[in-house]
Amino acid sequence: MRRALTILSWTLFGTGLGLALFHLFLDSGPAELATLGSAIGLAVAFVLSAVLLRVTPTVWCGAAIVAALVVAQHLISVRRPNDLDWSITGQVLSLFLQIFLIVSLGLVVRRRLGSDTRGVFGDSLIVGLGVWLVVWVTLLQPSIDQSTETSLVNGLRGTSLALSIIVLFLLAILLFSDSMNTASVIFIFLAIAFQFSADVLRSYNARGGSIIGINILHSLFIAFICTVSAAILHPSIRSLLKPDQQRQLPALMTRLITTTVSLVVPVLVLAITDSKDATDRLIRTISVVVLAIAVTTRVIQSVRANAVAQSTLLHNASMDSLTGLPNRTLMLEHISKALNLSSSNNAQPTVLFIDIDRFKNINDSLGHSAGDDVLSAVAKRLTNAVPANALVGRISGDEFVVLDASTNTTTQSVLLAEKVLDAFREPLAVRPGDMFVSASVGVATAPNDIPLSAEDLLRNADTAMYRAKDAGRNCIALFDESMLERITQRLTVETALYRALERKELHLVHQPIVDVELGLVIGFEALMRWDRLDGGTVPPAEFIPIAEETGTIVPIGSWAILDALTHLRHWIDSGACGLHATMSVNVSPRQLHDPNFVSIVSEALARSGIAPHQLWLEITESVMVTEPEQALVALKRLVALGVRIAIDDFGTGYSSLSLLQRFPIQRIKIDRAFVNEIVSNRDTQSLVRTIIAMGQALNLELVAEGVENALQLRALVEMNCTKAQGFLISHPVPVGAIPSTVVALQDLPTWNRLIQG
Ligand code: C2E
Ligand code: MG
Ligand code: MG
Repeated sequence: MRRALTILSWTLFGTGLGLALFHLFLDSGPAELATLGSAIGLAVAFVLSAVLLRVTPTVWCGAAIVAALVVAQHLISVRRPNDLDWSITGQVLSLFLQIFLIVSLGLVVRRRLGSDTRGVFGDSLIVGLGVWLVVWVTLLQPSIDQSTETSLVNGLRGTSLALSIIVLFLLAILLFSDSMNTASVIFIFLAIAFQFSADVLRSYNARGGSIIGINILHSLFIAFICTVSAAILHPSIRSLLKPDQQRQLPALMTRLITTTVSLVVPVLVLAITDSKDATDRLIRTISVVVLAIAVTTRVIQSVRANAVAQSTLLHNASMDSLTGLPNRTLMLEHISKALNLSSSNNAQPTVLFIDIDRFKNINDSLGHSAGDDVLSAVAKRLTNAVPANALVGRISGDEFVVLDASTNTTTQSVLLAEKVLDAFREPLAVRPGDMFVSASVGVATAPNDIPLSAEDLLRNADTAMYRAKDAGRNCIALFDESMLERITQRLTVETALYRALERKELHLVHQPIVDVELGLVIGFEALMRWDRLDGGTVPPAEFIPIAEETGTIVPIGSWAILDALTHLRHWIDSGACGLHATMSVNVSPRQLHDPNFVSIVSEALARSGIAPHQLWLEITESVMVTEPEQALVALKRLVALGVRIAIDDFGTGYSSLSLLQRFPIQRIKIDRAFVNEIVSNRDTQSLVRTIIAMGQALNLELVAEGVENALQLRALVEMNCTKAQGFLISHPVPVGAIPSTVVALQDLPTWNRLIQG
C-alpha cells in the first residue's frame, strides 16, 4: 500500500510537471482541460489520503485550505483579470493565504526544528532578507510607481508579497532544520515556490499591463496543484509533524549555498539598479543594514560555536570522561612541566602510581556500573586527600597518578603516599553499599642529578607499584634502580625462554619415587632444567612462573610430557626399571586450560606406547581453587583416558575437603614443608597424620616429598606413608644415570637398615 501510494504520488508530480510544460505551448482550450484534469487529480488525492493514509486532520485540512485558496485566487486572476472588485477579492484571498501559510508553516517548523535553532534561524533570516531586497527592488518599488491598478489593490498586493517573504523565511528554516527532508516536505516546498512565482509574475504584470502570458500562470498553477496532490498522497506526509527521522549530518552545504546565493544576488541587484526616490533609498538602506547585521551576527555566532566545539574536543582529548580528571596525555604534560621547572625551584617532583587492588573482582562480581562508581568515588577521595598543589589524574582503568611538583625529599614523597593510602581506610559509599577497597602505591621521585623524562618518571612509579603488589598489596613501595634491573633481567629471561625449546636448552632430569617397604622404585618424577647456551642455569622456580605467565608453558609442557614418556619407554625396554614403573609430569593450570591438552597427552601416550595408567599428572591445589570448573572438565577427560592425577605440594594451598571429593584425584603428595618438620614439630606430626588418614579414607595413594634424612623416613613409615621421594633416596638425576641409580636403590637390606636405623 505504502509503495503504491509512493509510486502514485511521484507519478502525479511527474505528470503535473509534464502537463505544466506541455501547457506552456498550448492554447486556452486544451489548457482548461489540463487544469480541470489536475483539479480532479487534486480531489482524488485528498480523498485517497484521507481514506488510505489516514493523514492527521490538522495537516489534511491545512493542505485543503491552502489548495482551495490558491484555486480560487487563480480562477479570479485568469477569469476576471480586469474586474476591480474581483481583483480586490483576489488580493484579499492572497493575503489570507500568506497569513495562513505563515501560521501553518510556523507550526510545522516548531516540530521539526531540532537543535541548532540559532544557526538555522540566522541562515533563514539571511535568505528571507536577500529575497526581500530583490523583490523590493524589482517588483514592489516599481509597482508603486507604475501600477495600472488602484492603490487598494496595490497595497494589498504589496502586503501579501511582503508576507510571502516571511513564508519563504519559514520555508528556509524547514529546509535547513535537523529533521530529514522527506518527499512530502520537498513537495510542499516546491508547491509554495510555484505559488510564489505565480504571485511574483502577477505583480510583474501589474507593473505594466499583461507582459507575461496567461499560459505561464496556468502552467505554474498546474504544477502547484499536482505538487500539492503529490505531497498529500505521499506516505511521508504522516510524519510531517513528527520529526522522528533526524538527519545524520546537518544540511550544512545546502545552507551554505543558499545563504551565499541570497547574499550575492541582492548585492548584484543593488549594484545594477539606482534608487528611485528618497523612500526607495531609505528602504534599501534599512534592508541592507539589517542584512549586514544578520550576516555579522551569524558569522560571530558560527565562529563562537566553532571555538566551543574545538575547546570541547580538546577537553575530551585530555580529560577522563568518567572522573573528570586529567588523562594520561595531560598528566605526562604536567609531569614534563614540573620536571622542567624543578631545577629552578630546587624541587624533586614526586609521582605516585596508584592501582586499586583486585579491581577486576569488583567489576566481574558487581558489574561495570558499580566499578565505575568505585572509580568515581576513588577519584574524589584522592583529590580530597592530596594537598591543593598536587594534581590527580586517571591514566587508565583502575590506575591513578598523583603529581606533586613541590616535594624535594624522599620523606615528603613517602608522606604524600601515606596520605593517599590513608584515604582508603574508610569505606567508599557506592551504590551497592559501603565498600572497602585498598590500593598499591608506587612512589618515584625525580632525582636532581640525572635528567629524566616524564615517561621515565611515570614508568619508575609504575615499576614501584608492581613491587607494592608483590609485597602483598595495600602498601607503598619506593622506586629504586635495582627494580629496573630486575625487570630488565626478567625481560631477558622471557625472551630467551621463547627460544629455549628450539635451541634445545631445555632437558629433563628424573627423581625416583620409591616404595620403602617393598624396596622398589615404583616411578619417577620428571623435572625440567634450563641450561642456557651462554652457560647460565635458570632454576625452575624462576622460569616456570614466567613460562606460565607468558603462555610458553603450553608448548614446553607438551614437549616435557612426550620426552618423559619416551624416556620411560626406553628404561622399560632396556630393563632399567620395572614394567609397571610410572612417570610423573608436572602440569600447570595454563596447560589444563589449553583446549588441545587432552589430545596432546593422548598423542604422547600413543607415540611412546606407555599405558595411560603409567602416567601421573601432578597438579597443584591452586588449579582446584581458581577456575575449578574449567580444570574439572579437562581433568575428567584425562581420567577417562586412563591417566592418573596427583595433587602436588599438598597442604600448602587452600583446597577444601569438598574440592578433594569433587576432583578425580588418585594421589596426594605431602609437601616438603611438612616432611621437613615431621621429626621436630608435634603439630606438624598430627597434621601429617590427619592428611594420611584423610587420604586413606578417600582411597588415595600417599607420597611424601622432600625426604632428606632417615629420621623423617622412619616417621613417615611409622605413620603408614611408605611411598617417598627426596634427596635421601636420590637427587633428581640425568636420563643416562637412571639405570645405575635404580640398581643402587633396589637393594632391600639397605632399606631395612634405613628404616630400622
Ligand atoms: P615439585 O613438582 O614439587 O618438584 C619437587 C621439587 O623439590 C624439585 O625442585 C626437586 O628437585 C625438589 N626436591 C626433591 N627432593 C628434595 C629434597 O629432599 N629436598 C629439597 N630441598 N628439595 C627436593 P625443582 O626441580 O627445582 O622444581 C621446582 C618446581 O618447579 C617443581 O616442584 C614443579 O612445581 C616445577 N616444575 C619442575 N619441572 C616442571 C615441569 O616440567 N612443568 C611444570 N609445570 N612445572 C615444573
Ligand atoms: Mg611435582
Ligand atoms: Mg612438590
